[in-house]
Amino acid sequence: QTTLIDGNEVSGRIRDTLREAVVRLRTDGVTPRLATVRMGDDGTSKTYVSMKQRACSDLGIQSEHHEVDTDEPSATLLDRIEELNADPDVDGIVVQRPLPVHINERDAFRRIDPEKDVDGFHPENVGRLVTGDPRFKPCTPHGIQRLLSAYDIETDGRDAVVVGRSNVVGRPTANLLLQRAPGSNATVTVCHSRTTDLAQKTRGADIVVAATGVPELIDAEMLSAGAVVVDVGINRVDTAARDEPQFVGDVDFESASQKARAITPVPGGVGPMTIAMLLYNTVKAAGLRADVSVDLP
Ligand code: NAD
Repeated sequence: QTTLIDGNEVSGRIRDTLREAVVRLRTDGVTPRLATVRMGDDGTSKTYVSMKQRACSDLGIQSEHHEVDTDEPSATLLDRIEELNADPDVDGIVVQRPLPVHINERDAFRRIDPEKDVDGFHPENVGRLVTGDPRFKPCTPHGIQRLLSAYDIETDGRDAVVVGRSNVVGRPTANLLLQRAPGSNATVTVCHSRTTDLAQKTRGADIVVAATGVPELIDAEMLSAGAVVVDVGINRVDTAARDEPQFVGDVDFESASQKARAITPVPGGVGPMTIAMLLYNTVKAAGLRADVSVDLP
């Protein structure tokens, strides 16, 4: 019997605990506040920003949004980030990806005050994660870790294969699973587009995390019986038959779910966890900045 890992359920429980933490913070006079910044014409970034705003208000977290015109030079975006760094009411700053091509993403992330960097993309926070002293764990990797622990999936001493080496998902997931800490302690292999025999690597894994952006790349043939499969991919497929866009993961769910011990669906797996962990980091940032202890789930 394959376990379907339910990200909606797990993230719902995390949100409930965070909601209580926000109530307690507010009685201490601290109201967490998230600022989002968006630049560019990309439709998906609009959707993500509004999902984040809604998730904040549902928890009693304040939020504000800033739009920077697509044609503006990078200095305009960096100045806006500086203003938010200097604003004492702002606890967390998210610069929504993707940014226009003329903007250097690295420069933008580097400009965010590391204490407000709730995405965990600033080099200081990346360095802290890599050296085993994380401040803000990046949201998607943290969400993956929470999903595994919610289903009592042991990582300690297990072989984990992370497919994808992006700074947003693949690398930080590998770093997180490698920590000397509960919910980590895995033996981690990172695969990517230059990996020569991907199937050989994934077949040797107890846990496979797929974060490639290649629709249905991982199928049952590439898994060992009883593997745990975490599908991070959100790939839009346009079918002529439907008006609504459809999304598939990086895993061929139909075949993989026949062989896996546990698997995340798309949608409803990792996706909802990412936003929950952003809220988590925002509440954490507010507590740290105000020097008030917060009971985080
Ligand atoms: P990316 O394009 O930055 O990185 C993709 C990685 O996959 C690269 O490191 C590349 O080397 C590797 N790769 C590409 N083709 C491969 C192949 N054939 N074999 C092995 N490795 C290959 O993408 P990303 O930002 O890491 O996102 C990955 C996927 O996860 C996308 O579908 C994205 O939409 C999704 N995503 C989901 C969430 C979420 O909350 N669920 C968050 C972020 C990204």
